[in-house]
Amino acid sequence: MSLFSTIRHWFTEAPHFNGTIIATERIGSRIQKVTVGLPNTVSGPFNLGSYVVPYTWGCVPRAYSVAKTDARSFTLLVSFSGGGTGARFFRDAPVGTATKFYGPFDDFPYRYGTGRPKVFFATSTGVAPFRMMVDEAVKEGLPATLYLGSPKEGDISLRDEFERISQDYPLFTFVPVLSKADPSWSGATGYVTDFITKNPTTMRKSDIYICGVPPMTMGVLGALEKVQVPKKQIFVQKFG
Ligand SMILES: Cc1cc2nc3c(=O)[nH]c(=O)nc-3n(C[C@H](O)[C@H](O)[C@H](O)COP(=O)(O)OP(=O)(O)OC[C@H]3O[C@@H](n4cnc5c(N)ncnc54)[C@H](O)[C@@H]3O)c2cc1C
Repeated sequence: MSLFSTIRHWFTEAPHFNGTIIATERIGSRIQKVTVGLPNTVSGPFNLGSYVVPYTWGCVPRAYSVAKTDARSFTLLVSFSGGGTGARFFRDAPVGTATKFYGPFDDFPYRYGTGRPKVFFATSTGVAPFRMMVDEAVKEGLPATLYLGSPKEGDISLRDEFERISQDYPLFTFVPVLSKADPSWSGATGYVTDFITKNPTTMRKSDIYICGVPPMTMGVLGALEKVQVPKKQIFVQKFG
C-alpha cells in the first residue's frame, strides 16, 4: 500500500477493529493460514470477496483477502515467499497476537444470477476469495472450475477442501497446476494460463474470476483477450 493509503487510513473513519490470532498453520513452504478472532463489537460473516488491511508490526498496512468468514472469526492465506514485512509478521506471529485491522472492504463480489459457468484462476494465496465463491457456485447449481497454480504439491492451499467439494459436487472441477512439479506428480503442470487457449469455447461462455499478483493477473487477462472473452464477464482482484 502507498504512503497516501496509509495516511488516509489514519485520518479517516474507515471501520477498524482489533483482531486476535486464534489459529495459525503453515501450508507447504510459503503460505501461512491465519485465523483471526473478532472482538465482541464486530460480527461476521464478512461479504464474499472482502479483504482486510491489518497494521502489521503495529504500523505497516498490508491487504489480505478473506478466505473464510463466520460470525466470530475469519481466515487469511498469507504468502511469505517474498520475505516482506507483512509476510514475516504473519509467518512468525503466535496465537494470541492482537492487531488492528481496517475493513472489511468488498470490491470483488461474486456475481449471482448470470446463469453462466464460473471459471476461477488463482496462483498461491490468490485462491483465498475463491474458497467461498466455489460454495456459491455450488449453491447456484452451476458448473465451476478452479485452476490453482502453485510451485509444488505441498504448496496447494486448501487442497483437501476443494477435493472434497469436487467429490460431493461433480459439476465442480479442481485443477491444481504445478510449475515445479516433482516427477511423482501425475496432475497438471505448467501455468494456469495454458488452460485458456486449450478451452477457448468454455472461457467465452463463462464468468471468469482472477486473483493473484499482478504478473499473473496480467498474463491471464492477456490470454483471455486472445480468445475473445467478453470483458463484462471478467472480474479481477489484483494483489498490488
Ligand atoms: C486487495 C488485495 C488483496 C490481497 N490479498 C492477499 C492475500 O490474500 N494473500 C497475500 O499473501 N497477499 C495478498 N495481497 C498482497 C499483500 O497485501 C502484500 O502486498 C504482499 O503480501 C507482500 O507484502 P509483504 O510486506 O509481505 O512484502 P513487501 O515488502 O511488500 O514485498 C516483498 C517482496 O514480495 C513480493 N510480493 C508482493 N506480493 C506478493 C505476494 N502476494 N506473494 C508473493 N510475493 C509477493 C514483492 O514483489 C517483493 O519482492 C493482497 C493485496 C491486495 C491489494
